[in-house]
Amino acid sequence: MNEHSLIDWQAAALRSTALYLDHHATTPVDPRVAEVAIRMMVEEFGNANGVENIHGERAASAVAQARDRVGQLLGAEPGDVYFTSGSTEAIQLAISHSIGTHRAPLRIAISRVEHKAVIDTALHAQRLGMAEILWIDVDDKAQIEQSSLRSALAGGVDLVCVMAANNEVGTIYPIGEIVRTASEHGADVLIDATQAIGRMPLNLEELGAAYVILSGHKIYGPKGIGALISPVFEYSSVFGLQGAHHPTPNVSGIAALGFACELMELEGEAESRRLKHLRDQLQERLLSLVPGLIVNGDENTRLPHNLHISAPGALNDVVLSRLRGKISISTGSACNTGAQEPSHVLRAMRLPDPHIDSCLRIGLGRTTTAADVERAAVEIAEAINDVRSSFSGVLDV
Ligand code: PLP
Repeated sequence: MNEHSLIDWQAAALRSTALYLDHHATTPVDPRVAEVAIRMMVEEFGNANGVENIHGERAASAVAQARDRVGQLLGAEPGDVYFTSGSTEAIQLAISHSIGTHRAPLRIAISRVEHKAVIDTALHAQRLGMAEILWIDVDDKAQIEQSSLRSALAGGVDLVCVMAANNEVGTIYPIGEIVRTASEHGADVLIDATQAIGRMPLNLEELGAAYVILSGHKIYGPKGIGALISPVFEYSSVFGLQGAHHPTPNVSGIAALGFACELMELEGEAESRRLKHLRDQLQERLLSLVPGLIVNGDENTRLPHNLHISAPGALNDVVLSRLRGKISISTGSACNTGAQEPSHVLRAMRLPDPHIDSCLRIGLGRTTTAADVERAAVEIAEAINDVRSSFSGVLDV
């Protein structure tokens, strides 16, 4: 690929004045994945539902290949892979399937740090009388309180929802242990692996979870494509979907997701090692440049590309506005109806208000270099220190 190519991301990153370090929000599409998507759109455009001709047949075989690749990454049967428009739809399908296969209301235990895609789906089902939520508490590192999980399970639970890794603070969960404990109590488990996929080992066969979900745009694939992987799922049992028509598959998105998964399988481990090293460097630099900086989450078990910090006294929206156009990072909390609310994850961790108000999430990615890390450390530290000095005396921190 030459430097003028539209789909050369190194060149695109160089053309951009702002450094992208928000890879938990979304990732750029890997040009190798984009090439697959474009080839499918232009050359293999058949309808995978209509295998009466060679075009349809080829599209269907591309879908089958993608199913193999997703299954392979997760140690799952290809037949257990269901393509969706992303993690949100996969979560909705899984929860609706669980509702459709249990006596109402579904007793659903949810960790307080789940993504809003899980929490809002469950709250909606609860409002409809289809579910009853039991909340699982977490500690100050966002780790699940085992006693809270066990007491929920003791009262009878149909479905436990836990993430493999947290999208804000990066905490990694002992999902093998959680699935074992849940199974002992007869509960199914839904694992939201959106942030974890390809970045830590996940084997569905070993885990024995009922549902695992993932999304293309978090692993250098396109937006609008994801998957539900489940040995128990059937469309015919989804509450409210019985007899629904199967839409025309998004073949280019599906093929791209499959290839993104294959790349993660081939390169994910080495990439995670490289990013962990860079993340640790960034953390060290920031700690040396910003007095009183706090690192949030569980430093012993954290996503390799995640750094979540608080700088009490430097309101995060002011820091972000100073960094706008230079470094793209975020607060990391889900934004509802355009209004930024304090993070429900940090609230669940019971962090003090000054830590919540000053939190920043940094997410490194496939194109991040050591020079980027140094530039980010200097710019972020400068922004925080500036904001602190302009607000000193104004805010009581
Ligand atoms: N779950 C987690 C942990 C996420 O980080 C996200 C996206 O931010 C989602 C679910 C929703 O994913 P999607 O955008 O594919 O619907």
